[in-house]
Amino acid sequence: MDYYSRQISKLIQELSALPGIGAKSAQRLAFHILNMPEEAVESLATAIVDAKKNVRYCKECFTLTDEEFCPICRDSGRNHKTIMVVENTRDLAAYEKTGKYEGVYHVLHGAISPMLGIGPNDIKLKELMQRLQQDVDEVIIATNSSLEGETTAMYISKLIKPTGIKVTRIASGVPVGGDLEYIDEVTLLRALEGRTEL
Ligand code: ZN
Repeated sequence: MDYYSRQISKLIQELSALPGIGAKSAQRLAFHILNMPEEAVESLATAIVDAKKNVRYCKECFTLTDEEFCPICRDSGRNHKTIMVVENTRDLAAYEKTGKYEGVYHVLHGAISPMLGIGPNDIKLKELMQRLQQDVDEVIIATNSSLEGETTAMYISKLIKPTGIKVTRIASGVPVGGDLEYIDEVTLLRALEGRTEL
């Protein structure tokens, strides 16, 4: 990229390091940014820096939030006795988009994968077990239907069974290996409604 001056090249290089942004998209974005009004660029840069500085895990469900507790955990209108276990914050957002789930969540930040060397201690599983010492009626396991997601679901259900708390798994209407966030809301709702006890 010698034909661009150093700062333009740097901007393109930083943008192309982002997931899903190829060299062409990076160039397009870079020139778009350069054409934006200065205030808009500053606002974009500030949003990125602020989010990075202030976003942390919710103390209750471990989703990403910029406050001590996320809006879902703070909402007393939700059913705090039903906990849906998801792999990441994007999966939580996918279920929230359906607008039909009234319980709360627990975000694992990953799934058990012996192949990748990710064990039960590398995800927020201890934290889930701690939450179950409170009054909980049901744990819905909504990990992905990938090998890792299924392994994690089995592992969690074995851990919870002895506590007597009801454990359910979302229906396999979700295609195998399907990433929850790419599945449409109707399919997600059907998977939730068709959940079975483990
Ligand atoms: Zn929360």
